[in-house]
Order: sequence, then structure tokens, then C-alpha cells
Amino acid sequence: MKAGFIGVGNMGNPMAANMIKAGHQLTVHDLRRESATNLLEMGAAWADTPAGCVAGNDAVFTSLPVPRDVEAVALGENGIMSAANAGDVYVDLSTNSPTTIRRLHGEFAARGVTVLDAPVSGGVYGAAAGTLAVMVGGDRATFDSVKPMLDAIGAHVVYCGDIGAGMVTKICNNLLSMGIGVLMAEALTLGVKAGVSLDTLADVIANSSGGNRRLVEKFPRYLFSGNFEPGFATALAAKDVRLATDLGREYGIPMELSNLVDQRHVEALLRGWGPEDSDAVARLQEEKSGVQLRFDGMGGAGT
Ligand code: NAD
Repeated sequence: MKAGFIGVGNMGNPMAANMIKAGHQLTVHDLRRESATNLLEMGAAWADTPAGCVAGNDAVFTSLPVPRDVEAVALGENGIMSAANAGDVYVDLSTNSPTTIRRLHGEFAARGVTVLDAPVSGGVYGAAAGTLAVMVGGDRATFDSVKPMLDAIGAHVVYCGDIGAGMVTKICNNLLSMGIGVLMAEALTLGVKAGVSLDTLADVIANSSGGNRRLVEKFPRYLFSGNFEPGFATALAAKDVRLATDLGREYGIPMELSNLVDQRHVEALLRGWGPEDSDAVARLQEEKSGVQLRFDGMGGAGT
């Protein structure tokens, strides 16, 4: 199939690469052309604007940082809308606001263009391996038509429901991942201060009822290794928690703990850690407790 792909950063680049490897023909665009160097070497075409990624393609994909970036690329000058025609398909892979994607869906529908939301989970390692979870909302038949391209990036491609359902699912997932991260930093600094080694705590908890993927996959690659190169930037993690608490306000759902998690992420942003990996948030707890959560191991898990 033929596709446009806009935003080839930490996630977009390996996703686009896997689409090319699966035999799809891509035209790519990013604010920084150098982000696409490897993709151009693999045979992708370059477009100078988002509009240049639309014509002649079965679908155009975006993987962009925050909702206002998606809106700018979709509706701004030389954006997707400016070049879209009836029958075109636009798929947003970013973690975006359900309300924003539903509004975009309506505006594009007026032009006969179908929008799907298809946020992903699994991080840069999952993106490179092509094993992402992909959560899709929107028209079912359009989902079926682009599924071959989604299968190139994900091992668990799930139709979640109407437009916005993918974003809602992804936001619930990421709220849990970030919340678990904050709680684990508290539990692990407690355990170490109270006399048990970090490797013992991590090993036993990973195999007990408190175990979770953040502990066995992400913490070993980032926090435990003292590696804060993103990965998944703290600014994006903070955005996702805020998308969740905003959604809670919109739907009248009480979210007391989630708002504490939100404020912990705001504190990390105020420290200037936005560009660092989201495991940096745990450093706040390390500072307050006087315990550093570093060790080499987990039996190779997460590497
Ligand atoms: P990133 O910042 O690494 O990549 C975003 C890319 O978009 C950059 O290359 C940037 O230059 C480009 N860009 C920004 N504005 C643009 C514009 N107006 N026009 C063209 N290009 C533009 O971010 P990322 O980590 O790849 O995340 C992308 C999305 O995927 C975010 O919504 C994020 O929340 C989500 N996500 C990230 C991860 C992760 O582990 N990094 C995992 C799942 C989902």
C-alpha cells in the first residue's frame, strides 16, 4: 500500500521503517529532515510539507508530540486538510485528546475524509520490534482497509470502537503506567531504606502480585541503569497524565490519586526534566528519600 507519514521521531521513525520493510511505499515529512535520513535511504520519498504526504496515498499517518501539533499538521497552512479529497483516510498514531480527534473527525468528514485514531503502546523498543499494541477508533471498514499497514507496526492491533475510543483506551493505559511508576518509586525506596537490596525487591515483586511491565521492562532500561535519554520524554508522560485528568473533569469522574500523579509530573517539568526519559520522575522520590534506585540486572529482563 502507499502512505504518507508525518512525524518521524522516537516512535514515528521505527514505525515508518517497519512499514517500509513490510513492502509499503512511504512519503515522509518532519520539521527536521535529518530525522528521516534512514527512511530516505530505505526508499521513502520526502515531502516538504504535510500536504505533500496526502495525494495518491491510501492513508496518511501522523505521530506527533501533543494535540496542538496534530491540529497544526491537520488543519494548518499546508496541512493535511489543504490537500485532502473525498475518500482519503487520515490516521493519527499520536497519543492525542479524544475530544480533539473527535473534532478533527467531524471537520474532515465534512470534506469526505475519514479519520481514525490509532495510538500505540510499547515504547521505542516495541516500535523497533514491530510489536506495539495499536488501539483504533473510528469507522470499522476503514480500519479493515488500513489494517495491513497497522499490522506492520503492531502485534496487538485492536479495534476499540467509534472515533476517540483508541485515545480513551491509550490514556487509561498511560495513566496506569505513570501512576504505577510513582508508586513503585515510593515502594522501592521504602524497601531499600528498610534494609532489602533493590535487586532482591525487584526480583521478588516482579514475580508477585505487585509485579508489572513498568518494573520488568522500563525501569531496567532507564531508571535502574541511570539512563535518562528518551525513550519516552517526561514532557510527553506529563501530557498523557493531564489528558487523563482533563478527561476525568470532562466526564465527571473523581480522580484523586491521578491528580497527585499529575502534580508529580508537573514538579518534574519544573525541574527542567521535560526532555529526559519519563523514568526521571522517580528521581524526585530518590531525592526526598535519600535512596538511589540503581542496579544492573533483572536477569536480562527488559534489555
Ligand atoms: P518525538 O518528539 O520523538 O517525535 C515527534 C516528531 O514529530 C519529531 O521528529 C518532531 O520533529 C516532529 N514534529 C513535531 N511537530 C511537527 C510538525 N508541526 N510538523 C512535522 N513534524 C513535527 O515524540 P515521540 O516519542 O515519537 O512521540 C510521538 C507520539 O507518540 C506522542 O504523542 C507520544 O505521546 C506518543 N507515544 C510515544 C511513546 C514513546 O515511548 N516515545 C510511546 C507511545 C506513544
